[in-house]
Amino acid sequence: MSLAVARHVACSGTIQRVTSDSAGRIRAIHTVDRVFGPYQRKAITLRDGGCLIPGCHVPAAWCEIHHVQEHSRGGPTHIDNGVLLCWHHHRTLDTGGWTIRMRNGIPEVRGPYWWDATMRWRPVTSSPLRLRQRLTTRLAAGDG
Ligand SMILES: [Zn+2]
Repeated sequence: MSLAVARHVACSGTIQRVTSDSAGRIRAIHTVDRVFGPYQRKAITLRDGGCLIPGCHVPAAWCEIHHVQEHSRGGPTHIDNGVLLCWHHHRTLDTGGWTIRMRNGIPEVRGPYWWDATMRWRPVTSSPLRLRQRLTTRLAAGDG
């Protein structure tokens, strides 16, 4: 498998190392808390709504959870470090020009130059709850 595929699987997949002796007896099972649990997924779904990449409409149920700071580099399996990405955007994140960061637990995206020539960070979501909150805040501020 290629390095890119290995990194993708390491981010969202489940790899469990099982060590056995020459007779086949299992000597050790190594588990890493790399996979987000169901309650974490529900919370991240509430916050993100679906795939984070603007213009992508893949719903949350079809998304994977991406470690913004890679797990292999010490990124925790925590809601503040996990975002929803569809399979395509997760797989092409390194080559598509999109960059994701977390700011106070809120995901922000910086798009490629062809999408935004200013290349500024933007908070993103397709969560109905957060979109409604954003609209309510704008209306209250008179930005209507
Ligand atoms: Zn997507």
